[in-house]
Amino acid sequence: MIHTIMVNLNNYRFLKSIMKASKYPLFTQKNEPSDAEIISHKLMIKAGLVRQQSSGQYSFLPIGLRILKKIENIIRNEMNAIGCAEILMPSIQPCELWQESGRWNDYGPELLRLNDRHDREYCVGPTFEEVITDLIRKELNSYKQLPINLYQISSKFRDEIRPRFGIMRAREFTMKDAYSFHLDNTCLDDWYEIYKEAYNKIFLRLQLEYTMVDADSGNIGGSKSNEFHVIADTGEDDLLIDKDGIGINFEIAKERYKTDNIEKICNENNLIHKKGIEVGHIFKLGDKYSKSMNLSIADSENNNHFLQMGCYGIGVSRIIAAAIEQNYDTNGIIWPKSISPFDVVIIEIDGDKNEEVRKYSESIYEMLINREIDVILDDRNAKLGNKLNDWELIGVPKFIIIGKSEAQNNEVTFKKREGAEKDTLKHDDICNVLTS
Ligand code: ATP
Ligand code: MG
Repeated sequence: MIHTIMVNLNNYRFLKSIMKASKYPLFTQKNEPSDAEIISHKLMIKAGLVRQQSSGQYSFLPIGLRILKKIENIIRNEMNAIGCAEILMPSIQPCELWQESGRWNDYGPELLRLNDRHDREYCVGPTFEEVITDLIRKELNSYKQLPINLYQISSKFRDEIRPRFGIMRAREFTMKDAYSFHLDNTCLDDWYEIYKEAYNKIFLRLQLEYTMVDADSGNIGGSKSNEFHVIADTGEDDLLIDKDGIGINFEIAKERYKTDNIEKICNENNLIHKKGIEVGHIFKLGDKYSKSMNLSIADSENNNHFLQMGCYGIGVSRIIAAAIEQNYDTNGIIWPKSISPFDVVIIEIDGDKNEEVRKYSESIYEMLINREIDVILDDRNAKLGNKLNDWELIGVPKFIIIGKSEAQNNEVTFKKREGAEKDTLKHDDICNVLTS
């Protein structure tokens, strides 16, 4: 018993100590990456969020992973809240399932195919309709189990013809994909609205300027779909938005108005043209997969139904790049609080030379940790200017600066990432200001 407690305490100390920059590799760099065409890609490399491994494949470094996890957790939280349960499926999928749905032929070269040692064919999952349809047809015994709502957050692979803009259009990326199964259309319609609302909550919590538009279903199939876009000038998609903020994507607009003259469509229909980055896409699949893969169940009157399905994707890793496209200045990234790698950084001035500064900084750090404020202490042996540059580049929203005079007067200097003003805070006011 005592032994267990000791071990846990040690873990806790370890967790605390790792949020000191002297022990936490930051990987910031001064050089502009030469291949980066857009600001988010440049800043993600400079701020040490990710590193390219090969074309369209990136490793997440500690700061980048913290951001990814914060986004994942907001999504998790809202999925769990509507009663969608988390699962995890294998990333390598057998070709037989894709042959059943017909997509082994239809999907094209974006599907990365491979053979195992027995010469069986597989693909690296770009999406999971086949795998989950197979899972449910094996598990479903009664209509009473319906509706079923499941999601996963996992790596997807699409052999994009032109991977670019860093993790914005990668080959391997993190996606949240949810799938719903229903006895009839009415139930699918109801759940589609529930997901829409959950998506709106997610993007509001992410604190990003976004819009939802009517969209095309692409090769996923089905009848109705909506996309969620983060608004940014560098977006690849053209959105046409009315005065109430409701929009359609350009592909749909071309069909609806029978022209591809975007100016003409906007003028005649009182729509505004904006650029968007697609960060989410929800679909009513209907019975496309349940029919081709034979997923059906008898209702209370013993009538057999192919299940109605929906699928609901979010580009988790793409959201990081989209958020940066919307929030930066000449010094670096400016994170919305919800997804910032840390809420606060404590920057110690010459703590390595001044015992009083070191002790005082550590006491403030402990106080914030105990109040569960997400803080990192920059106790590196480096110049104040360099530390400030790093944290402005990384984009943490709040700075606490501690030097000799702060330590002697039992106060701190407080500065926000945005703006130049500095405030002096008395020791007892620090937590209140940070949590307000
Ligand atoms: P796009 O039109 O950008 O190629 P898509 O319509 O093919 O995307 P979906 O199948 O709808 O993508 O996938 C769900 C989400 O996954 C998308 O809304 C997007 O945010 C994200 N996503 C898709 N492809 C990529 C990629 N290559 N890199 C990063 N994120 C991606
Ligand atoms: Mg899409």
